[in-house]
Amino acid sequence: MTIVGLDDTDSREHGMCTTYVAAQIAKRLRREADAAATRTLLVRLNPAVEYKTRGNAALAIHTDCNPARAFDISREVLESLAETRDERTNPGLVVADIDLAAGEGAIPAAVARFSTRAIRDHLSRAAAETLIDDHGYQSWHAGNGRGRIGALAAIGAWSALADWTYEYISYRKPERWGTPREVDHDSVFAAADSGYPDVWDTVDRGENETVCVPHTPGPILHGIRGDDPEAVRRVAEQIDSEPVYSSHLFVTNQGTDVHLRDVTVGADSDSGTTGSAADAATATSLQDGRAYRLDARVVSEPETRRGGHVFVDVAPEGVAAGDADNAASSPAKLPCAAFEPTKRFRDHVRALRPGDRLTVCGELADGTLKLEKVAVRGLNTTDLVTPVCPDCERTMESAGRDQGYRCRDCGTDAPGKERAEIERVLELGWYEVPPCARRHIAKPLVRGGFDGPVHPER
Ligand code: ATP
Repeated sequence: MTIVGLDDTDSREHGMCTTYVAAQIAKRLRREADAAATRTLLVRLNPAVEYKTRGNAALAIHTDCNPARAFDISREVLESLAETRDERTNPGLVVADIDLAAGEGAIPAAVARFSTRAIRDHLSRAAAETLIDDHGYQSWHAGNGRGRIGALAAIGAWSALADWTYEYISYRKPERWGTPREVDHDSVFAAADSGYPDVWDTVDRGENETVCVPHTPGPILHGIRGDDPEAVRRVAEQIDSEPVYSSHLFVTNQGTDVHLRDVTVGADSDSGTTGSAADAATATSLQDGRAYRLDARVVSEPETRRGGHVFVDVAPEGVAAGDADNAASSPAKLPCAAFEPTKRFRDHVRALRPGDRLTVCGELADGTLKLEKVAVRGLNTTDLVTPVCPDCERTMESAGRDQGYRCRDCGTDAPGKERAEIERVLELGWYEVPPCARRHIAKPLVRGGFDGPVHPER
């Protein structure tokens, strides 16, 4: 058994797409080596990595072809398809002789750990080179060789990850690449309806957008994502469009939230995957370029700033958080943002109040958590209001600095503001950005498995 890992073949300007390169390799392995290409993994790595072209995807092909032959074929395909005209494209290929049938432990633990870290952290080329040498894997690269990081991470992913979803990608005829795509809008919506909820993030109903159809110059016509391989294929086949050149089913870690590090009181951990002590961090030492899930309390009024971006401060729980009525004193304030592209998600963030208890998820960038989803755990349903006169039911007036309130007409008084119940539009449970703003790796609420009620966007 052989695993072929590859990455970094595409260019923002010139197009191409590593999924296409992988599909071509799988085709040639079948055709030229008479080998089975049993599975193609599409692994999304750390979305915060600065070198990414778009979605930080790396690919792995599982095949029964012998490693030397698989290497030769893959290298030929990469050399002919990788967009090396773009100096930022640094293709990498790694081929490992791994007997997956041997079960657990077939993929070395260090390689699996490398995959987890590639999804949650930042890695060096040297770290990849050392592991490739240590395990005697064959590799090839062009440019600076950075692509070998993703290629190796894709090899380890099958052991590192437990939650898998599917994407059925249909490709355009090469002569159409770079021209406007012809896809019937209504047929996409009808197909999406027929497949929901097994198939998700095909469209954004709120924005009337066909999310599955990219706008980039590459070879993809549409990509249909979901939990069931047959359902994604069926939905793809229902879409009316220009001729489909070829299509390929990928097994992916899209829609799984595996990029998030859980931050518990005092330290964080790697839930759901092979963990690493090196990932540990306290809530007060969150680092840019990583994504987190943490409990927190709202400590500021949400604020809509220029461009429609909504900001709110939270205090991570477990850290001395200050009084909700006195937010500025919080020693561990974490600014959170719902940016304009997150559209209607911002309404939920705008509806937060100081004192609300949350779980927040997102990537830390420049010290701000870019919200992907939020769970409302507890709502602050009281507010401090000026007291009402018990006799005439009119609002009292201030009796002077630090002298409480008084009703001028009746002479009744009160020592200060009083707590009153207020109506809240937010409900308890999970809220998420809509499909049009979803990161590839972020888990849609419709997939289930969340610890509370969910308010899925579709
Ligand atoms: P597309 O999604 O369009 O295929 P991309 O967004 O996947 O493109 P790449 O062209 O693959 O972008 O570039 C990402 C580069 O960053 C690759 O060279 C990959 O090896 C490297 N890389 C990925 N994850 C990490 C990481 N965690 N640390 C360091 N480098 C990484």
